[in-house]
Amino acid sequence: MHPLIFSPLYRTYLWGGLKFASRLGRSLPEGDTFAESWELVDHGDDQSVVRAGPLAGTSLHTLVREQGPALMGRHSGVEAFPLLFKFLDAKRDLSVQVHPDDTRAAKLSPPDRGKTEAWYVVDAEPGSLIYAGLREGVRTDDLRHAITDGTLDRCLHSFAAHPGDCVFIPAGTVHAIGAGLVIAEIQQSSDVTYRLYDWNRVGPDGKPRQLHIDAGLEAVTQFCPVIPRHAPEVVPPTGFPLATCDYFGLDLFAAEPTDARVWHLGGDESPHFLAVVRGTLALDAAWGLPPLQAGDCVLIPASLGLQAIAGSSGTEFLRVRLPS
Ligand SMILES: [Zn+2]
Repeated sequence: MHPLIFSPLYRTYLWGGLKFASRLGRSLPEGDTFAESWELVDHGDDQSVVRAGPLAGTSLHTLVREQGPALMGRHSGVEAFPLLFKFLDAKRDLSVQVHPDDTRAAKLSPPDRGKTEAWYVVDAEPGSLIYAGLREGVRTDDLRHAITDGTLDRCLHSFAAHPGDCVFIPAGTVHAIGAGLVIAEIQQSSDVTYRLYDWNRVGPDGKPRQLHIDAGLEAVTQFCPVIPRHAPEVVPPTGFPLATCDYFGLDLFAAEPTDARVWHLGGDESPHFLAVVRGTLALDAAWGLPPLQAGDCVLIPASLGLQAIAGSSGTEFLRVRLPS
């Protein structure tokens, strides 16, 4: 095995833009509504495919199934890679959504996983808002009335987002990403989303987009505001845990603005997924890979053991782990 660099899978939606080019240095195909860039996915037909090296052309699913112990280490034996990582470019507000938990998602046909997710704000235009959780005292009946009245925003907890904010969204939390944000998102690999509210907008055909009010309200289990979490100004060399749950760990690593730094990651019988947010990151020279730039990602298979990873001054990257 070698460090795995996958081709991104782009999703275009009306709310997307062009910041994967301007902020993440991507050369994009035709179009101007690039909403999501899936960097790590093994969900049905949606598959990350290795871009270069001896395993080029191989899907993540094939690697998980055929090289489980080498890739997954002590997590081998799973049917599919359980996490999905993506970048989002919200040029416009996303609809207000909620995802079911594992128990509810397992009862759907076809059954799926629930979706707990965490966001890291990569870029924020001034005044950009995140909607996460509910204002104190809001109950399901209040949500139903507010959806009917077109006033759901009054029920939502919101705050001005800043780069470096981490927002943990357990399944059952009402949420929306506001316009002007570039977000890195780690989530359970699942495809179940209930749209509760679309800000009274209409779709490209001039009609309101479909809502899933009954199923969505049934899935709401979190009746509280979600408060963002931040790493300290000086991030410890061992990284800072932004979000830790039963499904994943999301950690931030950062070099100080004036100092390069080397980290030693891996060696724990578990794959590590890295996503560069700022600066450059060089893997061990033996792999012969060019330094990773902002927006680049790599999956380090468990069997590679401890890896020395060098960041230029000011480098910032996220590390995703499977739960220990
Ligand atoms: Zn979501």
